[in-house]
Amino acid sequence: MKRQELIEILSDSAKNDELFKEADRIRRENVGNEVHLRGLVEFSNICKRQCKYCGLRSPNQNIERYRLSEADIIKTAKNAVNFGYRTIVLQSGEDDFFDTDKMCEIICEIKKLDVALTLSIGEKTYDEYRAFKKAGADRYLLRIETTDENLYKEMHPNASFENRVNCLYNLKKLGYETGTGCLVGLPNQTIESLADDILFFKELDADMVGIGPFIPHKQTPLKDENKGDFWLALKVMALTRLILPNINIPATTAMETLHPNGRIIALQSGANVVMPNVTSTEYRAKYEIYPGKICLNDSADKCRGCIENKIKSIGRTISKDYGFRQH
Ligand code: SAH
Repeated sequence: MKRQELIEILSDSAKNDELFKEADRIRRENVGNEVHLRGLVEFSNICKRQCKYCGLRSPNQNIERYRLSEADIIKTAKNAVNFGYRTIVLQSGEDDFFDTDKMCEIICEIKKLDVALTLSIGEKTYDEYRAFKKAGADRYLLRIETTDENLYKEMHPNASFENRVNCLYNLKKLGYETGTGCLVGLPNQTIESLADDILFFKELDADMVGIGPFIPHKQTPLKDENKGDFWLALKVMALTRLILPNINIPATTAMETLHPNGRIIALQSGANVVMPNVTSTEYRAKYEIYPGKICLNDSADKCRGCIENKIKSIGRTISKDYGFRQH
């Protein structure tokens, strides 16, 4: 698909249903009816960065910061494995307390549990990524957020677009299953740049792509901006399925925040992954990257049962394997 074609589809809502149906068909033909569940552990909300959209940004003083101990991270992961998850995702702000040695120890312990392990802990050096890989990490999530360089600079003070791109290519080179993605609905984001985001996923040959609508957070400079459009985010996701037919695509939590049935709609428009939260209830509310996050008062146990029922109700099954990309 050419850039112009992507732009036309993104600009015109007349054929939305056709697009969603086609993405659903391509999903079924290439990755089947199984849905992969990933247990998400939000292990620290401490962050040195200043991403303008994110509630965890370091200048936000109106947030109670926490950091799980290594023992608690491993305990949470064990708990998730007992619920039947075959992939653990460790996510945090960019928290330098967890240096390479500490991360490698945690990775080694979790890999003893016979699970696939995904990291989502931000920009690191090539050597750090190499050490995590050697310790056993299988996958890495690092959204490019936007490929519009000017918008990227505007949204990420003291950060470098070039470095973020380099990180992604380093991850690929090191043999990680590499996940990226973008936000939809950032202030001044254009349809053209969303088309470029999709082409970037293809160029990188991303193994996973997570798309979410932007949701304004009160304690950030973007507090008065409009939220992203659920349907536009869904279209970016569906188009991504068309151009990368065999990758893993999550139905994101941010989609469900904007639409009460958002994840099920996404699963029927190209997605094949869900990432239920397994963080203990005590910390969930504090990991507030955006407001209105779902399931804040629920336990890991409840989230598992709830999503399982929803998935079965649309005739899909829960996968029992690790859920690597199917080549
Ligand atoms: N520190 C890690 C993890 C970031 S949190 C990293 O840099 O990769 C995971 C994702 O949440 C981000 O990549 C971003 O796309 C999304 N996010 C952050 N703030 C958001 C907001 N206000 N609305 C919607 N999504 C947001």
